[in-house]
Amino acid sequence: MKRYLLDAWAVLAGLVINCLGKLLLLWHLGARTLAPPGPRHASDRKERELCGAHYIQVFDREKRQVVVVGAGPAGLAVGGQLRKRGVDVLLLERGRSVGESWLNMPNNLRLVTRWSLNELPDTPDSLRPTETVVSAFRFARYLEAYADYHRLPVASGSTVSRVSSLGTDGLVVSLQTGERIHAREVVNATGYFGSPFVPVFPGALETKIKQLHYGSYRSPAQIVELLHGTGKRILIVGKGLSAGQVMIELDQAGNSVELSARGLLEFGPSPSLDLFLQRFLPVLEWWRGLLGQDCGCSAKIRMQGGKTKRLVTSGRVPVHPQIARFEPDRVVFQNGSSGVYDLVLYCTGFRPHLAHLPGLTLDKETGLPAIRRMESREMPHLHFIGLDGERNFRSRFLRGIREDAVSLAERLALRLSR
Ligand SMILES: Cc1cc2nc3c(=O)[nH]c(=O)nc-3n(C[C@H](O)[C@H](O)[C@H](O)COP(=O)(O)OP(=O)(O)OC[C@H]3O[C@@H](n4cnc5c(N)ncnc54)[C@H](O)[C@@H]3O)c2cc1C
Repeated sequence: MKRYLLDAWAVLAGLVINCLGKLLLLWHLGARTLAPPGPRHASDRKERELCGAHYIQVFDREKRQVVVVGAGPAGLAVGGQLRKRGVDVLLLERGRSVGESWLNMPNNLRLVTRWSLNELPDTPDSLRPTETVVSAFRFARYLEAYADYHRLPVASGSTVSRVSSLGTDGLVVSLQTGERIHAREVVNATGYFGSPFVPVFPGALETKIKQLHYGSYRSPAQIVELLHGTGKRILIVGKGLSAGQVMIELDQAGNSVELSARGLLEFGPSPSLDLFLQRFLPVLEWWRGLLGQDCGCSAKIRMQGGKTKRLVTSGRVPVHPQIARFEPDRVVFQNGSSGVYDLVLYCTGFRPHLAHLPGLTLDKETGLPAIRRMESREMPHLHFIGLDGERNFRSRFLRGIREDAVSLAERLALRLSR
């Protein structure tokens, strides 16, 4: 009898502990969901902003160890990793705050990959969003909080106009304001978003048809304002992820959408299947590495399947070949057919944003500089992060940037310690 009583007490105690554990977990999750997203250290940010403005004047007289140009995910990740290794670093950002590119992305844009694939190195629990997939705006707020958490010295509103070599003595970074900063090493992290790529078609400058690049696209409401109404004829140029996403948005907004693409259209899995398959992505990419396919090759991003594919295969969105030329009020395609449009929207991608590095020779097709182990072949002490195929096919994406940031910071810390 005594044994049964003891057993009953043990079961009861187990149940109570279990319930308490669940309550604690729920409370924790609730607290995380309710907590306002964004920076948790307002005082840190104030300190950082004050420092940012002050730093440049001080830096003018001193020789900094590393200057990072651009405070997007790549700049912040490498800045954080350098600070962790005790390297003196300054980040220069032309925007009003960190993550400027992400604040200027289309309103409905969400990261295509699961959060776990996008998180920057050394992200504390408190900065992790509760959503699996986050919006561009939410990601920009995460970047701000990340900079605060790691106390990164970011001088915002500082546009770099030129980086010049001093030979073995390092580099000079010139700002638009005329200030010059001397650095032993410079990391360029200016991304792609600042340089939209628009193919040149005959007659494009003279035509009356309005033209816009995806980099300036915000929402269907913006298009209504631009075209003075809805139900317009819109030609989307491109066959990647962004072309598919805009196609859905503008079709749903009541426009008549058509597509012009070079070569055959390819579709990936539907968004929900894609999200499920991403669980296995790290393992698949690890295998790719083992098989020697982890090369410095370019990453191609296809249109998603699902709704996008249905719009095309059902014929609701007609597909044309590449544009041959523009006429004053119409577009002529390479097969001789033509169409009248109110707007041509280019979803033709971006090129590396390197206007402040005029001394470098860039590849005509990709706009990429010559790089070896993340360092410029033409300008020693100038390093790059976030460029396509830099170390492997992930290098342009957040999951690649976070790996590359660790590797670059390790190498720079070692070099500076000698
Ligand atoms: C529309 C779009 C959607 C994307 N979605 C995804 C996604 O879902 N997942 C993913 O992994 N990747 C995505 N990418 C790729 C994405 O660009 C990178 O993952 C990431 O933003 C690159 O970070 P970055 O820091 O290299 O560039 P950016 O985020 O562009 O940051 C560059 C920073 O440099 C600053 N800068 C530029 N020039 C200067 C200058 N002269 N002086 C000072 N500062 C300067 C800019 O203001 C900016 O803040 C997307 C890209 C685009 C364009």
